[in-house]
Amino acid sequence: MIILKEIKKSFNKLQVLQGINLRIDRGEVVTILGPSGSGKTTLLRCLNFLEKPEKGIVQIGNIQVNAEKATKKDMLSIRKQSAMVFQHYNLFAHKTVLENVMEGLIVAKKMKKKDARNISERVLEKVGLADKLQHYPSQLSGGQQQRVGIARALALNPEVILFDEPTSALDPELVGEVLSVIKEIAREGITMVVVTHEMSFAKEVSDRVLFMDGGVIVEEGTPLEIFNAPKEDRTRRFLQRVS
Ligand code: ADP
Repeated sequence: MIILKEIKKSFNKLQVLQGINLRIDRGEVVTILGPSGSGKTTLLRCLNFLEKPEKGIVQIGNIQVNAEKATKKDMLSIRKQSAMVFQHYNLFAHKTVLENVMEGLIVAKKMKKKDARNISERVLEKVGLADKLQHYPSQLSGGQQQRVGIARALALNPEVILFDEPTSALDPELVGEVLSVIKEIAREGITMVVVTHEMSFAKEVSDRVLFMDGGVIVEEGTPLEIFNAPKEDRTRRFLQRVS
C-alpha cells in the first residue's frame, strides 16, 4: 500500500536520509524507533512531501510520485493520501474543537458543511470528546488537544495516518489517554506509521517495528524480534539506553 524507494534527503550538507526502502501493507501498524536526530521525523515528512526528498519514489495507494520530477500538483495529490498527527497538535486557536475537525473536510475535501459536521461529531465522539465540541483548544488539556488532532486526521479518512511523536509534548499523566485512543484506532485496521519514544506502546501495538539510526533503517521486525532478540548492535545499545 505504501512503497518508498531509495528516498534521500539532505538539509544543507547533512544527509539525513541515506536511501530508504520500505513497503507497508494495508492495515499495518508500523512504529519507528531510534535515537534523536536519526531521521525519523524527516522520513515521516517525506512520506507526505511536507519535506520534498531529493531523490526517490513515494507511492501511497494508487498515487506514485518520483521526487526528482514532482510538481506541486503531484505533491498535493500524494499529501491527500495521508493525514498527520503532530507533536504540538497544530490546532487553530480561534476555532472550536468541532470547527477544527470540520475545517479539513470543508477546505481540502470540499465537503458540505452539514456532512462535515456529521463526520466530525462522529470522530470526536470516538476519541471521547463528544462533550467538548464547542470548546476552544485553550480550554482543553494537552491530552484532549491531541485527541482533537487525532479526530481531525481520522475525519479525513486517509489511506494512512502518520503520527509524529504524538505524546512527547504531553505531561506524563496525559500520555495514557492519547495512547489508548491510538490503540483503539489501530484495532480498527487503519494503516498507521508512528514515530514514538514509548517503548511499551510500540511493543503492544505494532505489527512491525523499524529501528533507525544515521538516516538508515538499521533493523526491522516484529516487536518480539526487535525487543527480545535484536540482531544489530546499534539496536541493542539503543534499547538498553531507553529501557
Ligand atoms: P529524529 O526525528 O530522528 O529526531 P529528524 O528527522 O528530526 O530526526 O532530524 C534528523 C536530522 O536532520 C537532525 O540532525 C536535524 O537537526 C536535521 N533537520 C531536520 N529538519 C531540518 C530542517 N528543516 N533544517 C535543517 N536541518 C534539519
